[in-house]
Amino acid sequence: MAYQVLARKYRPQRFADVVGQDHVTVTLMNALTQGRIAHGYIFSGHRGIGKTTIARVLAMALNCRNAIGSAQRPTAEPCEVCESCTEIRAGNAVDVIEIDAATNRGIDEIRELRDAARYRPARDKYKIYILDEAHQITDAAFNALLKTLEEPPEHIVFMMATTQPEDIPQTVRSRCQHFSFHAVKLVDILGQIRQIADHEGIDADDAALALLAEAGDGSMRDALSIMDQAIASAPVDEGRPRLDVTQIRDLMGSVPNAVFERILEAVDANRSADVITVANELLDAGNSPAQLARQCVRYLRNCVIAKIAGVSPDGSGLDGTASELLQISADEQRRAARSAALFSEEELTRFLQIMLKTFDELGYRQEQRFHFELGLLKLVHLRRLLPVEEVLSRFPASGRVAAPAEPPRPRPATSAPPVQPIPSNTSPPAAKPAFSPFAADSSRKSFSEPAPPATHADIQPKAAEQAAPVNTGTSAIEPAAKPAVLTPPVAPEPEPQPSLESDGPAIATPAAQSADELQRLTTEALSAARSQGSAADAIADSEWAIEGGEIRIQTSLSRTMLPMVINPDADRVIRSTLRNAGAGSLKLVLLPGAANATASKKTRPARTGSVQAKALEHPVVQQAQRLFNAEIRNVIDLRGND
Ligand SMILES: [Zn+2]
Repeated sequence: MAYQVLARKYRPQRFADVVGQDHVTVTLMNALTQGRIAHGYIFSGHRGIGKTTIARVLAMALNCRNAIGSAQRPTAEPCEVCESCTEIRAGNAVDVIEIDAATNRGIDEIRELRDAARYRPARDKYKIYILDEAHQITDAAFNALLKTLEEPPEHIVFMMATTQPEDIPQTVRSRCQHFSFHAVKLVDILGQIRQIADHEGIDADDAALALLAEAGDGSMRDALSIMDQAIASAPVDEGRPRLDVTQIRDLMGSVPNAVFERILEAVDANRSADVITVANELLDAGNSPAQLARQCVRYLRNCVIAKIAGVSPDGSGLDGTASELLQISADEQRRAARSAALFSEEELTRFLQIMLKTFDELGYRQEQRFHFELGLLKLVHLRRLLPVEEVLSRFPASGRVAAPAEPPRPRPATSAPPVQPIPSNTSPPAAKPAFSPFAADSSRKSFSEPAPPATHADIQPKAAEQAAPVNTGTSAIEPAAKPAVLTPPVAPEPEPQPSLESDGPAIATPAAQSADELQRLTTEALSAARSQGSAADAIADSEWAIEGGEIRIQTSLSRTMLPMVINPDADRVIRSTLRNAGAGSLKLVLLPGAANATASKKTRPARTGSVQAKALEHPVVQQAQRLFNAEIRNVIDLRGND
């Protein structure tokens, strides 16, 4: 007898033999027992999970010449021995017509089919049409079929197998019984291939069979196809083929998941070099980048699931749900859990996202190898990056570096001594970004410490922008990163204290301003600046304090609004005003406030006249606020001064 592939050889001939689709088989058997036969059936689900198999078994049961309830056939199963059953199994029954709709999808074929359907079956009870890949049938052809389905002759049964039931017109679907097939569970596939291995006299260890079952990915037919190949290439030992894990992996072009575990360990340890080394070993061994990326995606997916399901690395927490979701062997579940333990759920999700994207892109890239490596390196870098939300919430007002070398403004009248701006040609240091993502690499841990809910923005000016008074006498250069210190107490006329500069010539700041004075100057500057009315209001409404080298500005703006109102332009105006006022060495700290507490806070002259205050006092606004429990975030004066 000619060699038959396993999937065909072990194709179920009875409902009871179909694995993993009990919800379908039980229903069909009940219907058969009760004689409730529909004229149209839709069997939908992934490839290789038994749709056409069940269609054939159903056809056999319908046309079996041994009646249900007889001594030969007490159940709704086909008898498997009568003429009809054997013919259907062999695929040459006259009254069971299998049509591959992928190639016979046009109106002509369906018309032909429809016309033939009018005639009674040649011998058996039903004339049965099994339409495989039914979603490929054209709309016009479906319409032709619809007529037959609307008023079906007694003897007609249509069975449509499809992977995309949604592509079948609703009008057709509503006239059929629809059975949705499940992906076959790993344990079911494993049980089946173990039986087949025993039956075929094949030596195979559990790990090898588990790998085959996993490779099937919910499809019995896929698992059996790979098993066929594995047997064909297996070494034969005393007449028995022997399957082992390495051989199957080679066959599938896959690598042990241990390498992905290693890669993730290197990612966790922030060792890019190790990641690249592992990747290179794999690629040099001839593995394709696409296949590796695909496997990596699957591995990461399993890690995410293990994390979500709370599987612990020792294998505990492996309840039904986790196993159900993972569909991998117990060893692999533990491995995934070990990797998952290294990262947070968010990190794993982002890893998965990156590798999915990498996998997608590999399809149309020339230099696949580099893209795969790049994808892996991104995982390492990702650990160093902060989510943009986090960054934004921590650095609302400092998104930009202060603009270089603004012309010094005319100094407003203060009690401070006169100042001389530094010439702008005194070797400006390279501008460094206010916040580098990679700087977070070292400070990542520190972010988890309880930080003040404040916006820290170091306004230590660059030498080029320095407009602070010059202390001509000193030239000592202080060690870097010393915080500038200015008089903490908010005194009307504080004593000037030297300011320590981190770069450039050392500069002392003789002028110390009172908080109120600085606030007044800043408000004026913002009012004078173009379209900074909101910022001027916000600053006018804020409370200022100078403490330990910081100007703390307690605004009444919400965390969201703060960076919008004190936008980079406003930020620049504030900084330059502070510099001109001789307070440039102070650290600017903008604090968000309670959103709705604005109106009731305080009544200083600058405050009461502000647009914001007027708006909030307005009865309509207050009513709307109560009605919607709303937060007034921004008030824009459209009457416009400019
Ligand atoms: Zn039969």
